[in-house]
Amino acid sequence: MSHEGIRFVTKEELEREQQEDRELPLDARQPVKVHVHKSEGTGLEIDWKDGHHSVWSFAWLRYACPCATCDAEREQSGRPIGEPPPKEQTLLPMYQPPPRPNSVSPVGNYALTFAWNDGHKSGIYSWDFLRRHCQCDECKTS
Ligand SMILES: [Zn+2]
Ligand SMILES: [Zn+2]
Repeated sequence: MSHEGIRFVTKEELEREQQEDRELPLDARQPVKVHVHKSEGTGLEIDWKDGHHSVWSFAWLRYACPCATCDAEREQSGRPIGEPPPKEQTLLPMYQPPPRPNSVSPVGNYALTFAWNDGHKSGIYSWDFLRRHCQCDECKTS
């Protein structure tokens, strides 16, 4: 008997998927204010129409890049979204500056895109994606 083609998911993954299927209310994914702390290098903050205030560090955003390449890489390595990849064990590790964007631009009226300091720039971060992955203390612990 072959198990090929069968996808095993943990209960946690299933719950997460079901949660992502649920639509967010419009006010929860409509930004009122977007602050990009580019010169400070700290991260992104958004005030939403429903009154919620979200924060993300640039490192989290870089390692959560939602582009197809990064998605595939995370799936293959089992790296959770927003977590840095394990450091390569080399004799002379190269210094890697912490992730920060060289530029941030809006995509239509539904997303942001970052040109990262490591040259990567294919991720489209939709308001919906950002709100679902809010990194404020309240959302992170719930
Ligand atoms: Zn990517
Ligand atoms: Zn939050």
